[in-house]
Amino acid sequence: MQAHRIGIIGLGKIAQDQHIPVIGANPAFELVAVASQRGLAVDGVPHAVRDYRRLLELPAVDAVAICTPPQMRHRIALEALAAGKHVLLEKPPTATTSELVDLRHTAETRGRTLFTTWHSQYNRAVDEAERRLAGRTVRRLRIVWKEDVRKWHPGQRWIWQAGGFGVFDPGINALSIMTKILPAPVFVRQADLQFPANADAPIAADIDFAAGAGEADLKAAFDWRQTGGETWDIAIETDDGSTLDLSAGGSRLAIDGRPVVDEAPAEYQRIYERFDGLLRAGRSAVDEAPLRLVADAFLLGRRRAVEPFAD
Ligand code: NAP
Repeated sequence: MQAHRIGIIGLGKIAQDQHIPVIGANPAFELVAVASQRGLAVDGVPHAVRDYRRLLELPAVDAVAICTPPQMRHRIALEALAAGKHVLLEKPPTATTSELVDLRHTAETRGRTLFTTWHSQYNRAVDEAERRLAGRTVRRLRIVWKEDVRKWHPGQRWIWQAGGFGVFDPGINALSIMTKILPAPVFVRQADLQFPANADAPIAADIDFAAGAGEADLKAAFDWRQTGGETWDIAIETDDGSTLDLSAGGSRLAIDGRPVVDEAPAEYQRIYERFDGLLRAGRSAVDEAPLRLVADAFLLGRRRAVEPFAD
């Protein structure tokens, strides 16, 4: 079968670190076009344009990967679907929940594939955690997702702007793991959001979740002010006293203290394998759950101003 001819829109950090090399190594795809506002090009890629609308006009492009910040993703995705392209969305897929509902509906109407990638879900340890938790009751959960924003997002202004998600930009990765592995849905009960006095997005957040039925002690702590290494851990206890620890961003799993999975992440390789499968099957995969939890944290959260942040 012919390779899917794909274009990338937005050649920032994630496009360069992951999408370009991973597409290049997957024979199911051919990178045929890139759109970069700054005018970047990629060796061996025939089309390089500044305006993404020129990329969407190219008949040689079957699908696009939208790797911009989230604030403009809905508009670009809508135009891409209208141009007949299949669409892969970086996480978070849109800036609002209603934009994502609109994209799902538009993709269905137009018969195009829409794929919301939540990269942290694409770890073997996460699959195994989901399998082990199936049919069980979680009584305690602690998410601790803390990192140094200066190390991971140097100079990125959009993350501090409204719709940029702030600390939820990494935090939503933990939530995407949680929503995948928990056997029953959870809900935001309360949230405490810390906004630097000079920013429109939070630098830290604490969330309490409620289980749908029964009592459970479920909490998440996100913080961008951690220095000296990152903590990307999820610890779970089930009602039979068993423990399940996901660490290193979801790439390691221990059950009752015993290591079960410890694999180097291959998240984007698996994302593009899934995209290939969806394109061949003519199906979409739209997972709204992590975005809804962040939206609910903003709806319910108490806001506290903290000291201004200087990059
Ligand atoms: P980034 O380095 O800031 O890149 C975003 C790129 O989008 C910019 O370099 C720019 O590229 C393009 N762009 C288009 N319109 C823009 C606008 N109005 N303002 C700013 N940039 C605009 O960000 P990133 O880290 O790659 O993150 C992009 C998305 O990927 C985010 O949603 C993020 O959550 C997700 N992600 C990032 C990582 C990571 O490790 N960084 C990991 C997983 C997912 P051109 O100048 O080439 O157009």
